[in-house]
Amino acid sequence: MTMHYRQLGKSGIKISALSFGAWVTFGKQIGDPVAKKLLHTAYEAGVNFFDNAETYADGQAEVVMGAILKKSGWRRTSYMVSSKVFFGGPGDRPNENGLSRKHVVEACHEALGRLQVDYLDLYYCHRPDPSVPIEETARAMHDLITQGKVLYWGTSEWSAAQIEAAHAVCDRLLLHHPIVEQPQYNIFHRSRVEKEYGSLYRSPGLGTTIWSPLASGLLTGKYMKGVPKGTRLGVPGLEWLKTELLKKPGIEKRLSTVPKLAAIARELGTSLPRLGVAWCLKNPNVSTVILGASRVEQLTENLGALDVVEKLTPQVMKAIDALSAPVAD
Ligand code: NDP
Repeated sequence: MTMHYRQLGKSGIKISALSFGAWVTFGKQIGDPVAKKLLHTAYEAGVNFFDNAETYADGQAEVVMGAILKKSGWRRTSYMVSSKVFFGGPGDRPNENGLSRKHVVEACHEALGRLQVDYLDLYYCHRPDPSVPIEETARAMHDLITQGKVLYWGTSEWSAAQIEAAHAVCDRLLLHHPIVEQPQYNIFHRSRVEKEYGSLYRSPGLGTTIWSPLASGLLTGKYMKGVPKGTRLGVPGLEWLKTELLKKPGIEKRLSTVPKLAAIARELGTSLPRLGVAWCLKNPNVSTVILGASRVEQLTENLGALDVVEKLTPQVMKAIDALSAPVAD
């Protein structure tokens, strides 16, 4: 297994094809020693991007990651770390969430403190905020970049039209442009990355750091017969995710597709999680696939997807399309 690096859109930075994120796990589902092992396993495999957000475990995910990074002894130049702003942390008074200049700047300062770093490599608007003029958010991001507190900014789950509007504002006001979008992308959730963003990859040259490559575990086969103990969908506070994943229209079709995907994986001599991650990697418009894991064995397994990409011939991709296209989001 050899890590390779991809250009992040039209920016100058190179990002590992597989990266690693802290959602649900750090500061919540797993203990700090496991978090440390996971981050070290990822880094040693060549991962150079760690994803985080103000809202993950109400900031605690960044505290845990920051402590590990601090003690790691890794050169700051050898990895990238992100935060995201929008959902807020524990506070829920006005201006403690959203994309106003006030919250974008304050959330950045707080993330820098929790992560114990001098700058964020990537800083995302975690969702669009229709209540704030895009000029205000873009200028706040621009100012953080000129102050050296953020290197690049991006968006997460913005529509193509919203991303285009952000670029138009940055063109007009001569501001630093967003370089990256963080959308969900997996065999069961395809249309935005494959269709809606279509023209944005050429111009302005969108990079993508995609999330939930295994649909929170659905694409590992673990939810075929309810929710096993110790899995994400049993984590207190994530009842909404359970509803979203297991009660959404089309779930029967999705669940019936999983064994068929597992059969394809078996024919290729690999596992279902590896197939799922490799399938995401196969898309050239994906800059990096952000992995999530609650155990080191899962991460090790998923890193092995790098060796599976070459097995995804046009025939195999066609077979997966035939299974997933009808149930795609
Ligand atoms: P996945 O869809 O890959 O789900 C990861 C979870 O699936 C693991 O925590 C584990 O859960 C299970 N799993 C993973 N590998 C295996 C395996 N080999 N065998 C069995 N089970 C496995 O990714 P995430 O949903 O975690 O997303 C990745 C990252 O993307 C996040 O950490 C975050 O940084 C980012 N993200 C961004 C979002 C955004 O809005 N921008 C939203 C969501 C995520 P279990 O504990 O059940 O075993």
